[in-house]
Amino acid sequence: MNPLTIIGAGLAGWTTIREFRKLDTTTPIVLVTADNGDFYAKPSLSNAFAQKRTPDQLVSTQAAKMVETLNVSLMAHTQVLALDTAAQTLTVRTSATADAPASDTTLAYSQLVLATGAQPIRVPLAGNAADQVLSINNLEDFSSFFSVLKAHGTCGSSSENDSKTVVIMGAGLIGCEFANDLIQGGHQVHVVDPMAQPLAALLPAAAGTQVQAALAAVGVQWHFGATVQSIDNAEPSTPLRITLSNGQTLQADAVLSAIGLRANTALASAAGIACERGIVVDAHLQTSANAVFALGDCAQYASAGQRTLPYVMPIMNAARALAATLAGTATPLVFPLMPVTIKTPALPTVVAAPAPGLAGEWQEETVEAGGAWRFMNAAQVQSGFVLTGKQTARRMELSKTTAV
Ligand SMILES: Cc1cc2nc3c(=O)[nH]c(=O)nc-3n(C[C@H](O)[C@H](O)[C@H](O)COP(=O)(O)OP(=O)(O)OC[C@H]3O[C@@H](n4cnc5c(N)ncnc54)[C@H](O)[C@@H]3O)c2cc1C
Repeated sequence: MNPLTIIGAGLAGWTTIREFRKLDTTTPIVLVTADNGDFYAKPSLSNAFAQKRTPDQLVSTQAAKMVETLNVSLMAHTQVLALDTAAQTLTVRTSATADAPASDTTLAYSQLVLATGAQPIRVPLAGNAADQVLSINNLEDFSSFFSVLKAHGTCGSSSENDSKTVVIMGAGLIGCEFANDLIQGGHQVHVVDPMAQPLAALLPAAAGTQVQAALAAVGVQWHFGATVQSIDNAEPSTPLRITLSNGQTLQADAVLSAIGLRANTALASAAGIACERGIVVDAHLQTSANAVFALGDCAQYASAGQRTLPYVMPIMNAARALAATLAGTATPLVFPLMPVTIKTPALPTVVAAPAPGLAGEWQEETVEAGGAWRFMNAAQVQSGFVLTGKQTARRMELSKTTAV
């Protein structure tokens, strides 16, 4: 029998395997992944500086241990190049090693799970150092960023422990989390965003103002209504010069782009599988191809009104339902309410966002110390909430009164 095959060793891939093994201990599983297969919690990438954790310390379980515990055949450092959904095969390319050149192989699968994640959106920038912009969406990206900050200082600093200056493009969830974390790690941070305040797509304006003030109070320097236009440096080991659309210039040791993610759909799309904002899956996480499923940051869920949901809780729920389906019990995915915690210790924030485009309005509760908003839809049904600061303790209470 051909194995159950998973592409991608992120949270979605590994969690699906873990859930499947609870139901079926014998079916052979092959996990093919472009990275080394180590298991880590991606959310820890944006609070590592405050905790003084190195990239190595962020690995929760080495790939070899995962393989042994879950009885999986791992093909690490292996890129899936193409799928043939009619023949139920994939073509993979194993990286070259000291002993062997790169080689292509065809693998047959019985059922296939696409857990290929997403990739950072890049915008074209001018300047001779535009290629030095970094993004962080995996442990390897984080290692590169970590090395840049540990390198000999350029903005006036001289030793590897000195404070560095980072310009962050984007004041969304990831940009705000890194801003807070870098400040806690002793660095200087500028955040540049075309909107008028942070988290503009997620929070009511008054909540955004609170986050803005809290992060400014710990040292974040905001540049709203502007974008990064160009990045230059006169010569290596000199500071980067960042020119904004409003004409202002900043100097920094690093530029981090956090302007959003795009689902990895190229592989599925080339195989003729229906893709829109992500790989389109039905309530059983099946794609438009027979025996091919998808979940995680690469998926666009029918169970979420055709949305992508690039967060941990959707993956945990999707992996449980998918594992049952793969093990033979067709199980539709029903998402519960899944509030997201924004890791900004300067002002802890929890958001249960209403569906995009839902008609309604944010209403602020008159509570002591402020910090609670409910989104009421046109029929006055509570369809989302935001809590900040001490009010985050009311997460369970407001979850109970929010319609899913
Ligand atoms: C900095 C940061 C902080 C976050 N914090 C939070 C948080 O606090 N709370 C929260 O809910 N969510 C958070 N998220 C989001 C959450 O971490 C992600 O939704 C989740 O980790 C995505 O997992 P995934 O397995 O779908 O994708 P990924 O982790 O991206 O895994 C994709 C896998 O696919 C492999 N792959 C891709 N293409 C191929 C190919 N062609 N061949 C072989 N392998 C391939 C990759 O190598 C990788 O192993 C955060 C995200 C980031 C970036």
